[in-house]
Amino acid sequence: MPIETVRTPGTLRARIAGWRAEGLTVGLVPTMGALHDGHLTLIRRAQEEVDRVCATIFVNPTQFAPSEDFAVYPRDEGRDVALLAGEGTNLLFSPTVETMYGPGHVTRVSLPGLGDELEGAFRPGFFTGVATVVTMLLSQAGADVAVFGEKDYQQLLVIRRLATDLHIPTRIVGAPTLRESDGLALSSRNAYLSKDERSVAPALHRVLSRVALRVRGGAEVGAETEAGKAELVEGGFDKVDYLDVRSADTLAPVSRIETPARVLAAAWLGKTRLIDNVEV
Ligand code: AMP
Repeated sequence: MPIETVRTPGTLRARIAGWRAEGLTVGLVPTMGALHDGHLTLIRRAQEEVDRVCATIFVNPTQFAPSEDFAVYPRDEGRDVALLAGEGTNLLFSPTVETMYGPGHVTRVSLPGLGDELEGAFRPGFFTGVATVVTMLLSQAGADVAVFGEKDYQQLLVIRRLATDLHIPTRIVGAPTLRESDGLALSSRNAYLSKDERSVAPALHRVLSRVALRVRGGAEVGAETEAGKAELVEGGFDKVDYLDVRSADTLAPVSRIETPARVLAAAWLGKTRLIDNVEV
């Protein structure tokens, strides 16, 4: 089935209103394109929840720092459309930057605290960019459900928080991380890895899994995270931004595992920054 692409909030709303009028439920799957199987599992997850699924592709400039890869972020809408159509996606919303950020646009959504931790500490302004664009997308679509990946675990918590705080009546669903057979989480940025870097990359998931197993077994959190960081560097990573065990609900630091927790990390391989997380 061909898939219709709409580029303005007005046409997006009209299509979704049409489905609503037929009594159909609608799901939204926001992405930045350069789609891989991880994104497609989100489409399938949405299809389990609702009658019609709309994907969005928008490389959001406000979540990239000037030093980051906005200009070179992989873009291939033709390929993405074919992948989405292959999954039976019903609609694609792919607006331009000028449509999303019109003349005089100044409004920002920020989450002090949650948005300043971990990823936020290393990428100042990142979650303000994410929260702003996701608020726009949720408000433009008015979907029943929106699906986001646990791959970006802090992002998922940020989006749950903003949906609650801003009374956005879209249910936020988290979907598990899809991995390569060697454990590397699928990511559009894996395309940047050289052959050598690609062979080192699975250590990230391996180390996170080991830390999770050990702290679950009662090992001391501080000692395990330090050992994990050292192991990543010994294994070939160039730099570790953070590797930490946090509350799965609030990302508050934890020293003992008494409630659900998550091990989260970001580390560099050459010019590529990989993030991953696992449940404790
Ligand atoms: P992105 O295009 O990278 O912004 O990601 C769009 C959505 O896909 C986000 O909700 C991500 O968390 C999710 N995602 C990215 N990689 C994966 C993966 N390997 N498994 C599941 N979901 C993913």
